[in-house]
Amino acid sequence: MNRDRLKVNGTVYKVKHRKRVFLDGVKQAGVCVFQTQEIRITNSAPFDQFDTEWHEALEAINYHYQIGLTHEQIIKLAGANVQVLIENSWLGQPRGAE
Ligand SMILES: [Zn+2]
Repeated sequence: MNRDRLKVNGTVYKVKHRKRVFLDGVKQAGVCVFQTQEIRITNSAPFDQFDTEWHEALEAINYHYQIGLTHEQIIKLAGANVQVLIENSWLGQPRGAE
């Protein structure tokens, strides 16, 4: 499993885990920089980090597919995705790929 790459619609993001992540001088759990194809994630408890990784993946999906979700909607979606994926691990792979 390669946790340092995220591919979204043909674009490959470098995923960097850091002690601290800032955006415009403000501390963040994570940030997705579309211009440089970089996702930075603050080191935290595994569940929180997973939620942040999903959040930034959804930010990238939202951007590349021009969905128009707000940051608040992405927070809720990431939380829901994480809960459903953890409790239904079969959803991570299509039938026959396991
Ligand atoms: Zn966001």
